[in-house]
Amino acid sequence: MAPGQLTLVKSGDIKKWACLRCPGGCGEVISLSLNPNQRPRWLVSEDFWLRPTIHPSVHQKNECGCHFWIKKGRITWCRGGRPSKTIEKRNL
Ligand SMILES: [Zn+2]
Repeated sequence: MAPGQLTLVKSGDIKKWACLRCPGGCGEVISLSLNPNQRPRWLVSEDFWLRPTIHPSVHQKNECGCHFWIKKGRITWCRGGRPSKTIEKRNL
């Protein structure tokens, strides 16, 4: 999965998952359930240029704690949702 890309996992015509790498720098893969029967779940819409908009916002509960919206293919950070510290990982 390339950074800065949203991957939609579909089953037939049904969108199941939206996956992206966290834009906050931790690099974790975020999987958003699009299944309407599950909670929480997200809605993805695409405009004419296939730019995704995701509702509601994405809030990571990990060390990075980022909180952002994806609107028309762009990341919009919530107030205080952009990680102030950069997390770098090293192999041990
Ligand atoms: Zn993150």
